[in-house]
Amino acid sequence: MKKKQHKPEETSVLPGMQVEFICPKCGRRLAWALPDTEMRCPACGYWVTGKNRKKTENDLMLPLDDDQLILF
Ligand SMILES: [Zn+2]
Repeated sequence: MKKKQHKPEETSVLPGMQVEFICPKCGRRLAWALPDTEMRCPACGYWVTGKNRKKTENDLMLPLDDDQLILF
């Protein structure tokens, strides 16, 4: 790996990172999970995926390491 790589848009989710699933329909916060997870919103029944999930202003990602939860 050379140091020369210039990638300003590093928005893609890294492997092993969790994202927060928020229902795009009703805004309910569901859970933290891997981006390829699908879960059903218990409030409105909408299937929320890593693609259609509602993103927060600062779309944080957490490593699977639970120690990071201390940040909250
Ligand atoms: Zn919902």
